[in-house]
Amino acid sequence: MEPLDLDAALAGVLADTPGARDQVFLDSAGSSLPPTPVLDAVVSHLRREAEVGGYRAAAERADDLAEGYAVLAELLGCAPDEVAFTDSATRSWLAAVDAVPLAEGDRVLVTEAEYAGNAVPLLNLAARAGASVEPVPSGPDGAVDLDALAGLLDERVKLVSLVHVPTNGGLVNPVREVADAAHAVGALVLLDACQSLGQLPLDTADLGVDLLSGTGRKWLRGPRGTGVLVVPAHVRERLHPRLVDLHSGTWVGPQEIELRDDARVFELWEHSVADRLGLIAAARYALDLGLDTIASAVGARAEYLRAGLSAIPGVEVRDLGTRRCGIVTFTVDGVAAQDVLASLLARDVTVTVSNLSSTRLDMTRRGLDHLVRASPHYFVSRAQLDTAISAVWNVR
Ligand SMILES: *Cc1c(COP(=O)(O)O)cnc(C)c1O
Repeated sequence: MEPLDLDAALAGVLADTPGARDQVFLDSAGSSLPPTPVLDAVVSHLRREAEVGGYRAAAERADDLAEGYAVLAELLGCAPDEVAFTDSATRSWLAAVDAVPLAEGDRVLVTEAEYAGNAVPLLNLAARAGASVEPVPSGPDGAVDLDALAGLLDERVKLVSLVHVPTNGGLVNPVREVADAAHAVGALVLLDACQSLGQLPLDTADLGVDLLSGTGRKWLRGPRGTGVLVVPAHVRERLHPRLVDLHSGTWVGPQEIELRDDARVFELWEHSVADRLGLIAAARYALDLGLDTIASAVGARAEYLRAGLSAIPGVEVRDLGTRRCGIVTFTVDGVAAQDVLASLLARDVTVTVSNLSSTRLDMTRRGLDHLVRASPHYFVSRAQLDTAISAVWNVR
């Protein structure tokens, strides 16, 4: 079997993804194309809200909404009460980081793949607490250097922020090794799984992390404005949730409150029920296809694209890492990334540009200010990848 042919498990995906037929969609790392069941879940709920009001509409779906915790738990390798639904990965990350006690003199370690959406709040929080934020150098293959990490860890390190897959490249960072090293000095590990959720199998318990954040709109093909946070039971007592409301806690006496003791302490009462139903549908869709099937289909497409792009004079594929996944980044000599994007868009090939400020540590170290990012999901055909490659041949 050709590695890029859709196997039996993926045969139905094109029928569910009309948007993938007439264009070459290579932006699942940005905001993917939700499949029909996701779209239907969202739109039908919005219609129902317009018919009977939001409270009645939500009550009608109470069982499905409750079941959603188990669905996400299956996807994320955790227990249902370790799942919190949020409105973005950033919201998950903010809630988690804000609950980690940080004091004067404490240290937080980040990797060079750190994302600006994490770095900005972290530097802000650390400055207030009098804590420091220190980057762990990357090794020769571009992934986090475990020896360097070991050299930096001491008991003042309270948190290690690890990006599983960076926003600007196909590398996959080792997780278990980082978690084990961090735990040896008592630090918590927060995994940003934004770019791995939905494209790689994820098992929070196996990965050994203390917190995990993910988004709906990228590889999982869920609606925008959705995210998830995993808070394993063993870590709850070490966290101090601050941004709580009448869902995360109960007002039990004039001066007394009780906070929930599960991951939902990080949720707020108000949320888009339609979007949550869409996210649950997206998780079910991925589970039905199988995450191993998805990972190998995505990986094969990315490798095919890298090989085709590497053969073009003046094009340099920029992905780091020994283990790689579905994000393909490249530059074209003498052509600005934004112009490459425009030229591809004119041929109905959708990519994005990743800029210096979204992954400042990594881009600065490599002397890059922009990269073109192409992220093919399993619904992209070989013929479409060929179209994309020939469009890059024709840039300039
Ligand atoms: C996109 C992204 C995020 C943020 O996800 P949102 O859903 O926008 O909050 C976080 N980390 C990485 C690595 C990302 O690529």
